Amino acid sequence: MNQLAQRSLRFIVDSMLGSLARWIRMLGYDTVYARDMHDSEILEAARDEGRILVTRDRGLYRRALRRGVQAILVSPEPAKALAQLAGRYGITLVINPDTSRCPLCNSPLARRGRDEVKGRVPASVYERHMVFWVCTGCGQVYWKGGHWRGIEKTLMEARRMAARVRDRGLQHRG
Ligand SMILES: [Zn+2]
Repeated sequence: MNQLAQRSLRFIVDSMLGSLARWIRMLGYDTVYARDMHDSEILEAARDEGRILVTRDRGLYRRALRRGVQAILVSPEPAKALAQLAGRYGITLVINPDTSRCPLCNSPLARRGRDEVKGRVPASVYERHMVFWVCTGCGQVYWKGGHWRGIEKTLMEARRMAARVRDRGLQHRG
């Protein structure tokens, strides 16, 4: 799959996986978080909008496949689930905020200089950062703060798991 085809993947994530929904959005994919939706509504939305269902509910997964909805059964653990998504759909496990979507509302982010967010972030953050990203939907302001290290750590762990799965796959084939 080429980069463009990958980026056009769309997902719908079941209500038990809120944290994973935020991760997939940060990776740049249009993702509906199906909170407060019944299973039948989730399947309908997945089919109508051409979204891949991401779930940890085996029953829902089976129903999706029976109805011809693309679906993946994932681990409840975010790093492992990300590795599974990478293995299946070739998603690159790197976050580039220029192509990220807002983890809160799924709208694209836009890069902004610090003068454009002055007064909207704490003074100490304003002092320490030159580049920010603002959600084009809800207006939330993001920057690569202390939490960024935690994000990178989880991604690194996910990449390591994805590589292990790939290696095992090669061994099986060989
Ligand atoms: Zn937003």
